[in-house]
Amino acid sequence: MIVEMRFKAPKAETEAVIAKAKSLGFSVQPNVGTDKTVIAILGSNTGQISTDIFAVLPGVEHVTRIMKPYKLASREFNPKGTIVKVGGVSIGGNQLVVMAGPCAVESKKQLEEAARVVKAAGAVIMRGGAFKPRSSPFSFQGLEKAGLELLAEARQKYGLPIITEVVDPSQVELVAQYVDILQVGSRNMQNFSLLTEIGKMKMPVVLKRGLANTVTEWLTAADYILAGGNKDVILCERGIRTFEDSTRFSMDISSIPVIKKASHLPIIADPSHAAGHYSLVPALAKAAIAAGADGLLIEVHPNPKEALVDGLQSLTPSDFKRLMGEIKLISEAMGRTL
Ligand code: PEP
Ligand code: MN
Repeated sequence: MIVEMRFKAPKAETEAVIAKAKSLGFSVQPNVGTDKTVIAILGSNTGQISTDIFAVLPGVEHVTRIMKPYKLASREFNPKGTIVKVGGVSIGGNQLVVMAGPCAVESKKQLEEAARVVKAAGAVIMRGGAFKPRSSPFSFQGLEKAGLELLAEARQKYGLPIITEVVDPSQVELVAQYVDILQVGSRNMQNFSLLTEIGKMKMPVVLKRGLANTVTEWLTAADYILAGGNKDVILCERGIRTFEDSTRFSMDISSIPVIKKASHLPIIADPSHAAGHYSLVPALAKAAIAAGADGLLIEVHPNPKEALVDGLQSLTPSDFKRLMGEIKLISEAMGRTL
């Protein structure tokens, strides 16, 4: 931590900062300039204390953290990178993993048709929401437990591992009984009791980026799950809120290489929720792969015109098939398999 004193701060104020740091067990390196003094506060656990401890002291202008607030999610913690295994699929290795299916489970017929088409096109994991976190309480909230049962049936019939969202800490165990990967939605990225509950599980989790959260906040949220002992965390970039309103959210492509550098966790991308419109999904999907994403989460509906949720951004079976062909070419160029 670096404490910058105000212009010509009295010596007594600088000494009070030094005394405070020493009283907390840190070592101190003051750099006294002609006008300003800058104090380096050193110790392995400076990350555990608030910068406010120094920022509130008289004469302090600014306090900067050197250590990142996240630990377990950082690349230093596991330089080789994490590979998450689900069934026979590895996420974070050489293979690009495509997860696809409808936004919400609507009926047995819809789900089975979706499973059939996404599998035929090359998806290796099926998505489908049973509990939907809707912006309005009057919108379709999902089939809930009946939706989980339909997902489990589709898994059985088509042999695809299943990912679904869990929205409440009290439902983590229930959802975990039916599916292979838990999804934490964007709106719950900082629902710390949900993250803590999922941390107790021994199963893969996709942690979506909060729609208005920084990469640092995202990785710090991942630490909640990792700290509980659940090591199988996959990050998912799904677009963030910016001033731009020609897409539903702004796909932050740069977060993919940023995460690859900062973290050992696999990262996938969800072009559907970022785009908000089916016509934009293929370009964002391909850009994410070219940027180094380990996979994609894509909404596909057998008949988007009749979808109860997110129909406009869902691909038709034929559009999805075409996109898979294009992704194959990009994955080859990236030296990856599909
Ligand atoms: C979803 O995957 O259907 C979803 C609700 O996504 P997000 O949390 O990214 O909005
Ligand atoms: Mn959706």
